[in-house]
Amino acid sequence: MKIFNGVKIAIFVLIILILGLVIYFFNQGSEIQPRLSENMDKKTKSEIPPEPIKKISLVTVYDNYLADSRLETGWGFSCLVKTEDKNILFDTGADSPILLSNMEKLGINPGEIDFVFISHLHEDHIGGLPGILEIKPDLPVYKPEFFSGPVKIENGIWTTGPLGDGIKEQSLIIESEKGLIIITGCAHPGIVNIITSVKSQFPDKQLYLVMGGFHLFQTSDFDIKKIIEEFKNLGVQKVAPCHCSGDRCRELFKQEYKDNFIENGAGKIIN
Ligand SMILES: [Zn+2]
Ligand SMILES: [Zn+2]
Repeated sequence: MKIFNGVKIAIFVLIILILGLVIYFFNQGSEIQPRLSENMDKKTKSEIPPEPIKKISLVTVYDNYLADSRLETGWGFSCLVKTEDKNILFDTGADSPILLSNMEKLGINPGEIDFVFISHLHEDHIGGLPGILEIKPDLPVYKPEFFSGPVKIENGIWTTGPLGDGIKEQSLIIESEKGLIIITGCAHPGIVNIITSVKSQFPDKQLYLVMGGFHLFQTSDFDIKKIIEEFKNLGVQKVAPCHCSGDRCRELFKQEYKDNFIENGAGKIIN
């Protein structure tokens, strides 16, 4: 009987041991599994190239041309770029009161701006900055001298970096699903030069829209027509000239671009 009891105890201890081991390895396994898949997730995520921005809204908040009769005009340019997760103010117009009152009428809260992008340091583009900074003093302001060449600012948002021999000016590039959007302040480096530089930066991308000041208000019809031809050769699909583009430039672009010409001005919203 004693021997039989001893065997019983040995079998019992063995079963407990096996059970213990099974539970131990089971727990080990379930701990390792999620850690592995987490790491794999991170790896595949970083290997996926950034997606173009799906939802973009461009709101001209300050311009010398008018698109929404509720707003005020003033010489200068400012445009709010709204993406899925960022609000970028491109330039600030010439003065704070017009900028802030236009924003209010458009239902834009300056407190929700994530950063200001300044194309160049002319008064008609930086004059409204003090009013914005009074509301949000810690707001980052990206001036052209911050960059030495093309730089990615956010996912799908780029600067051309400062261009031009005289006045240094940067333009904003947005990678949309339909192609690139270029926003220019005054286009002092030359509108065609700016587009050409973007094209060389992104050789595989379509040029969907060019908007902003083209600086052609003193250019002859003959030269404007040559520029329109270059826009077409570069594959620019839509245009939204405003600010210092000039009336003739807008007329001639409209004739050529027809439905792909966007009548830009204060209050214009492009989705
Ligand atoms: Zn200027
Ligand atoms: Zn200007």
